[in-house]
Parts: sequence; structure tokens; C-alpha cells
Amino acid sequence: MAKTPKIPDTTLSPDETEADLTGTTPRRKPKPEVEKIGNRKLKPATLMMGHGFDPTLSEGSLKPPIFLTSTFAFESAAAGKRHFEGITGKRPGGAEGLVYSRFNGPNQEICEDRLSVWEDAEEALVFSSGMSAIATVLLANVRQGDVVVHSGPLYAATETLINRVLGRFGVTFIDFPAGARREEVDAVLEQAKGRCMGSGRVAIVYLESPANPTNALVDIEMVRQAVDAAFPDDPPPVAMDNTFLGPLWQQPLKHGADISIYSLTKYVGGHSDLVAGGAMGDKKWLDPIRAMRNTIGTITDPNTAWMLLRSLETVELRMTRAGENAQKVCEFLRDHPKVDGVGYLGFLEEGSSQRDIYDRHCSGAGSTFSVFIKGGEEESFRFLDAMRIAKLAVSLGGTETLASHPAAMTHLSVPDARKKALGITDNLVRVSIGVEDADDLIADFMQALEKV
Ligand SMILES: *Cc1c(COP(=O)(O)O)cnc(C)c1O
Repeated sequence: MAKTPKIPDTTLSPDETEADLTGTTPRRKPKPEVEKIGNRKLKPATLMMGHGFDPTLSEGSLKPPIFLTSTFAFESAAAGKRHFEGITGKRPGGAEGLVYSRFNGPNQEICEDRLSVWEDAEEALVFSSGMSAIATVLLANVRQGDVVVHSGPLYAATETLINRVLGRFGVTFIDFPAGARREEVDAVLEQAKGRCMGSGRVAIVYLESPANPTNALVDIEMVRQAVDAAFPDDPPPVAMDNTFLGPLWQQPLKHGADISIYSLTKYVGGHSDLVAGGAMGDKKWLDPIRAMRNTIGTITDPNTAWMLLRSLETVELRMTRAGENAQKVCEFLRDHPKVDGVGYLGFLEEGSSQRDIYDRHCSGAGSTFSVFIKGGEEESFRFLDAMRIAKLAVSLGGTETLASHPAAMTHLSVPDARKKALGITDNLVRVSIGVEDADDLIADFMQALEKV
């Protein structure tokens, strides 16, 4: 667990007192952290205010200072050696102290401690963007000749990374559609095993759910069972991009994923003012990812990590409010004569397999959905241009409501046939609802629909 600044306990011999290290003023003892009251384990919303940081170690500052430094002074040469044994993997377990800001830092470590609380993960890592998190996870796992199995569609840049960039290094991929059933997944895994040549392996099973913009959900529990059945001895890690519903409404680690990945730019950052990424899971899976991050330098910076700490304090409040707002807006849109349909997880049909996955995996429908305007691009553009509160922008999960047109924006370069297969039509508008007043938002959608 990160304590800021780190206590140099690794260099203390049993008979040394702390006062020996600090001169005449004894070091202030860190206050034991409150994680339980009696038998009551404190909830993430409570832990976000203090977990992983002790003010007494930073002049009593209630909030962690931003540690703007590129490197950290070792307490002794022996401590420096020990830390590097951890960094280089000579000794398992990673660095015990702060070393160099490409490897770790106090703000990043506090942020990682707090992030891991949401999915009860053993460890978490923060990155400079969602894509750098995804790239680091993939690079840590694939070798030449390997096969990546993934659900589809994926976030466009992730698809480019897996299907094109990794291909340049002799890594191939096979995908299955997000809503696939067990037989389909089994077949794809068998096909992937058959494709592994020489020392090649199925390196990773990579999922994204709900898929953008189809909102199709992946059955993580089923994929886990399929992977364990196909690879009884040494299953590859199952990683999942949880950006759309995490950390509040879906926790993939609880349903069998090994690595849960986030673009923290979205709901966790939540104010549309930073770009960052995260990954969490068991140490076993995160150690190689951390080593790769150390090598290529994809860690986030101290300032962004501090901003994320600020954001994490309100993530539950913000997501709850945005989710309630989205439900009200979707209920209004569903019955509107100028609307052809609403792709919202809260409206999944009772008895459908998608609804079954939703009921098992999700505790909320999120605040990002698709609305199909009657007509085509022209009508959709009129609607978008008439919006007064909602801003016209890509991205999601911020405090403000955003709307965009995937066919003409995020998915412009997707070939027409693939667009059709994914249901990316010219009348599809993507909306991310924020934390404004719900009735104000409904008034805005109402007046914009009148202009269509
Ligand atoms: C935004 C996003 C990403 C990429 O995150 P960045 O922070 O922009 O790098 C990855 N996956 C999903 C689902 C996203 O929405």
C-alpha cells in the first residue's frame, strides 16, 4: 500500500530507532488507516477520501501534495540496490520504495490504491491514457506467433492496435461478436489454438462490454468458463475494457476477468479535463504489465494522478446522478414521435439473453446510449445543431451532456459494409448524459426534436 512519502523501513535494522534516521525530531508515526469500524468493512465511497494517504507524513496537508519530481533520494546505497532489484524483477514483488518517476510516484500510488478498492482488486496501475493502458497490457502479453482472441466490435483505436499494429510483429487475431453464445466462443478458441504455430500461444482473450456503439454485452462468466475448458492447464488472461460501466455499474473481476481496464478519461476522471488509463487485477497478472510500463514509460504524471484523486471522491455521486438522469431522458425519448428507437441498456427485453447477461453482470444501465432519429443524416444533424445544453463532442462520462454522430465522426473511416453490420446508421446519435438537472435536459431534447 502506498504511504506518502514512503517510510524507509526497508533499511531499518531492528535496533535502529526512527529518531536515528531523522536527527533529533522523531518521525511522526503514521496514523493507522481506518478501513473497518468494528466488523463493518468501509465502502469505496468512504475510502475515496483517505485511503492510501497519511496527512501526518506530509505536514498535515489534508490533501496529498503533488510530488513534482523526476527522481527520489535513496536513504542508503543498500536501499537503492534493493529498490532496483524490485524494479528489474531480480527480486519478485516490485519496488518497495520510490525510485524514479517513470516507474512510480506517491500521487500515482495513492491513486492506484484507491482505484483498486472499486473492484476489490489486489493491485491497480495508472497510465497516461486509456490507450496506453491497453497497449501496455497487450505488449506485456504477446509474442511473435501468438494469437489474440477478442470480442467485437472494440474501441476503434484498440481494434487498430490489435488488428494492424500487432500484426506487424507477427501476432494474429480472431474475434467473436460481443453477444456470442458459448458454442461460438468455444469454436473461436479452438480455431485460435489451431492457428498457434511453433511456440505461439493464445496470448490473451480481450473483451469490451458494452460494445460501442451497439451496446452489445459480453457474457464474461461464460467466456471465463470457455477459456478454462479450452486451456485447463495454463489459461491465458481474460482482459476486459470496463470504461463504459466501470467502476460503479459493472466489475468484471467479480465475474471471472483477470484484468479490468479503464479509460479513466471517461467516468472516473469525469470532468472532461484529463486523459488517463488504468488496469487492475491480481498481482500475478499486473507484475508483467508493470514491468512493461517501467520499460516504455506509459505511467500517468503526478498532476493527472492528483486530479484523479479529486475525481474519485465523487465518482459514485456523479455516476449515480448521471444514471438517474439518463433513465429519465431515455424514457422521454422512447415515446417521442420523431424517435425511431433508443439503444439503452435499461430497455433490454425481459427474457432475452442480453437481458440475462445484464441482470447477472450490471448494477446500472449507465448514461451512454444511442438514439435513432426518424430520417437520416440531415435530420440527425438538425437535431444535433439545435441542442442548447448538450454539447456537440465525442467522449463520454463527463459532468456535462455530450452528443455526437458516430457515422460522420468516430466511425467515419469504418467501411460501409462494416458500419452496416455494426448498426452504425446515419440516423444514430450517441449521447452521454451528465449530472445536470434531468428536466432541463428533457426540455433541451424536446426543443431540439421539434427542429428536426
Ligand atoms: C475512450 C476509450 C478508450 C481510450 O481511452 P483514452 O483515454 O482516450 O486513451 C478505450 N476504450 C473505450 C471503451 C473508450 O471509451
